[in-house]
Amino acid sequence: MIGNMMFQPLLISSLIEHAATYHADTEIISKNTDGSMTHTNWGQVAQNAKRFANVLASFDLAISDRVATIAWNNHRHLETWYGISGSGLVCHTINPRLFPEQLSYIVNDADDKVLIFDKTFINLVLSIKDSIPSVEHFICLDAFDRDIQKALPNVCFYDDLIKERSDQFEWTELDEAKASSLCYTSGTTGNPKGVLYSHRSTVLHSYASSLPDSFNFSALDRILPVVPMFHVNAWGTPYSAAMIGCSMVLPGPMLDGASLVQLIDQYKVTNALGVPTIWQGLLNAAYQSGSKLESLVRNIVGGAACPPSMLKAFKDDFQCETIHAWGMTETSPLGAVNQLKAKHLETDETEQFKQRFAQGRPPYGVSLRVCHDEKGVEESARDGYTPGHLQIKGHWIVESYFNQFDHALTQDNWFDTGDIATLDQDGYMQISDRSKDLIKSGGEWISSVELENIAIAHPELEMVAVIAASHAKWDERPILIAKRAAVSSLSEAEVLAFYHNKIAKWQIPDRVIFVDAIPVGGTGKILKKDLREIYGSVLLEETPA
Ligand code: ADP
Repeated sequence: MIGNMMFQPLLISSLIEHAATYHADTEIISKNTDGSMTHTNWGQVAQNAKRFANVLASFDLAISDRVATIAWNNHRHLETWYGISGSGLVCHTINPRLFPEQLSYIVNDADDKVLIFDKTFINLVLSIKDSIPSVEHFICLDAFDRDIQKALPNVCFYDDLIKERSDQFEWTELDEAKASSLCYTSGTTGNPKGVLYSHRSTVLHSYASSLPDSFNFSALDRILPVVPMFHVNAWGTPYSAAMIGCSMVLPGPMLDGASLVQLIDQYKVTNALGVPTIWQGLLNAAYQSGSKLESLVRNIVGGAACPPSMLKAFKDDFQCETIHAWGMTETSPLGAVNQLKAKHLETDETEQFKQRFAQGRPPYGVSLRVCHDEKGVEESARDGYTPGHLQIKGHWIVESYFNQFDHALTQDNWFDTGDIATLDQDGYMQISDRSKDLIKSGGEWISSVELENIAIAHPELEMVAVIAASHAKWDERPILIAKRAAVSSLSEAEVLAFYHNKIAKWQIPDRVIFVDAIPVGGTGKILKKDLREIYGSVLLEETPA
């Protein structure tokens, strides 16, 4: 017997329809590529999305064709997203910070038919245009610009394209399992692989990520997704904000601390989302300017481990609750988020604070387990202590990669994340490391994350990364790459002394190498692969064979 309730497919178009109907005048504030600001709202975003859908309908495209975007977080980009997915096409967001060869690889792999780009990326588009034969239409997300047209004669301009179009469009009726968007892993470990989200997975992910025990979004919020729309769909915020009716501030290309402080203060942002390197920049800028970030009630940090010292700084100095979350491109991204349970409120503040360090527990819709090996044959104990290979399954988790027909799953249908983690009885998960970043010293594992968390708590260190360096005797030993604060003259010995009594002696890094800058990739994460290439043999050079 089938239940007697209405069935409506879970479609992305229903999100923008909801926002336009019930939150039409809720503001979307957007920084343009030239630094100017545009104030719009959900109602106008929906109208322009429909105008753009009419533009796409005039192209010769078939359902599920891919439309690529290379753009910052801004209102035009947001409009195109809804126009693309709402008309049954697949919105393929591209990370502009990849190398041109990687970019053309991705465009060709996706077989993109349309390429939409922000003006600032014209040189990048020019550098790949001859190696991406599938692209039939180039659209610059701006008003007409003579220089751009000169450089790329067959380009169209978004503002001109939508100007004359009707704002009436019947969103395409689709099966909810149809593809809606495509995102490639950022390739910090290996070649980029495409993850093809569905309408259903996206809508369910929006429900789960908005919950009070997740990102805690409400129609009272004004959110600032600093995480780019090309990084796992800005963690799904353009969808969940429409579902909930949040106001949004879209920060455009300027993601430095000072610009973010200004946006938060001027527009009274209540909740902001981004990776730890972004928050480090924000903290530094706020200290410098004296801003108290008064409106900011909470910020979500994920994409890389959040050092406990960062949680403390936001809480003590800005009364802002920092929520640690974990996820990946393959998981849409939300896999775990750290919110307390009632029983934790019975413990003292120090205990509660400690509880928040971990990456958190899974929201309804996904499950986590840790296993002895990546094949998932045997589960490790859920004791909060025994590390294992972290695996996940659920409604918004990848099954297979785009264009690769074999399953990406274990025999019993879990996805192995490549992370090493512990789980406790309540499902709180703590990442020890990426399996590729773990340091294997004399047969024992050392977590680079743990060593980084200690070092970054030193007030004179601005950014740190711990990597494995090859070692003649121990196979691998940890070394610390560190960027000192501007006025610091901290020595290697002082940094090493800082580790004493905080960790077992044999885990203390062998070397500290001070650098002027630590390389970060397109999504703001530290590029440990690059660091290993540069510094991975320093200990071999020092140790006599
Ligand atoms: P890439 O794999 O190219 O970095 P993703 O953005 O998909 O692209 O990265 C997912 C990975 O980021 C996870 O597998 C994990 O290693 C790391 N990660 C994400 N969130 C956290 C977190 N809160 N703590 C530690 N690591 C995290």
